[in-house]
Amino acid sequence: MLAAMPDSAPSPLSPGGPAPRDGGDACPGTLRLHRADDGALARVRIPGGVLGVDGADALLAAADRFGDGELHLTSRGNVQLRGLDAECGGGLAELLAAAGLLPSVAHERARNIVASPLAGLDGSPALGEHLAELDRLVCASPAAARLSGRFLFALDAGHGDVDALGADVTLIADGDGFLLRIGAGDAVFRVPAGAGPRAALSAAEAFLRAARDSGAWRVSDLPEDVRAELAGAVAASAGPAVHRPRPRTATPPAPGPHGSGTPAGPAPAAPAADGTAAPAPRGPVTAISVHVPLGRLTPAQWRLLTTTARRHGGELRLTPWRGIVVPGPFPGAGAADALRALGAAGLIASPDSPWTGVGACIGRPGCAKSLADVRAQAGAAVGPVGRLPVYWSGCERRCGHPHGEWIDVVATPDGHRISHVRGERRDPPRTVRADPEARAAAVAAARA
Ligand code: SF4
Repeated sequence: MLAAMPDSAPSPLSPGGPAPRDGGDACPGTLRLHRADDGALARVRIPGGVLGVDGADALLAAADRFGDGELHLTSRGNVQLRGLDAECGGGLAELLAAAGLLPSVAHERARNIVASPLAGLDGSPALGEHLAELDRLVCASPAAARLSGRFLFALDAGHGDVDALGADVTLIADGDGFLLRIGAGDAVFRVPAGAGPRAALSAAEAFLRAARDSGAWRVSDLPEDVRAELAGAVAASAGPAVHRPRPRTATPPAPGPHGSGTPAGPAPAAPAADGTAAPAPRGPVTAISVHVPLGRLTPAQWRLLTTTARRHGGELRLTPWRGIVVPGPFPGAGAADALRALGAAGLIASPDSPWTGVGACIGRPGCAKSLADVRAQAGAAVGPVGRLPVYWSGCERRCGHPHGEWIDVVATPDGHRISHVRGERRDPPRTVRADPEARAAAVAAARA
């Protein structure tokens, strides 16, 4: 599922974390709130999206005590709290720190790590230890506190799902080690498994040295010659690069609508190394996956998810596609029962839900830049499941849009502009005037 908040925040309400870089990286965090039209907003980093049930309870308590009570998932598997009182910063930080969700004040906005949600659950390698080590290393590095809130690490279990997101530093499980990718290029470096997290941090620190003059926030912002120097610096310690094209779409590791990431339903088995479908897993279902309509969870939905997790694996994994994986095991009819209950609560529990692949930014009334209430419009246009994901934006910034191939719907002063995006390319757009039926028909046709 897809939905979003602005990636940057122009008006921090309170100082916190590392000093802003040149050009003012105003990405929100838990110590640097962002002023939105519906109140202040906090973004809580959840490295790898991995959240224990006690942490989940703490987030719900924070949303209830300080915000609008709801939990909003981001395109990086983080959680946003909205409708906050501008003066709540101290109490919020205290609550989150007590729950272990704020391990380093200086690094709170640098802990941007996405990970394959099904790692270790579908026959793919488990990444938990590597994820925890990378987070520890980031928080222990004084230099890493200067990373922009937009800089992104990815840990891919070999699915290609988070490798496709174009992170700044990606570790891809490969045999008994990792491949290390810098930026969105097609070259990778081989590193032994035990050295993966340290190699990822070293690459991020090398980026900071390379970015010193340009003030770049992300690898893609670096001038080309500086990017080449960065690759050279990484090669000096990791060895020569090998060619491994980056996947261009976040195709799920099992059949399902493109762009929806981990498909809703029981966890499938990971495909074989040659890409062929794996046989149906035997024994208890190892995990279930649900998507969240427009990324917004009510307190009752969150409680049901945490209760389900408590009864099974004790953990939630927030996905970069605004969904949630609940690790099991789910013996007997446990998975079917849990999915039925979550579906009845309004979550997307099967890939044939009409909400599959539908996303929208916050739009009106939460964002002053928005030209329309795009969430309501996206909901009104929901129809048959499309082949491609669709993302509605209230303005040209397209906060939180998907990657790869998708349908882009942007509000304009006199209607909506619909275009088909294919990675870096975009087909000529079609403009639809303010007619809801024509708009829904045009979006359905574009997705098909
Ligand atoms: S209206 Fe524009 S700035 Fe506001 S959340 Fe949507 S895309 Fe971002």
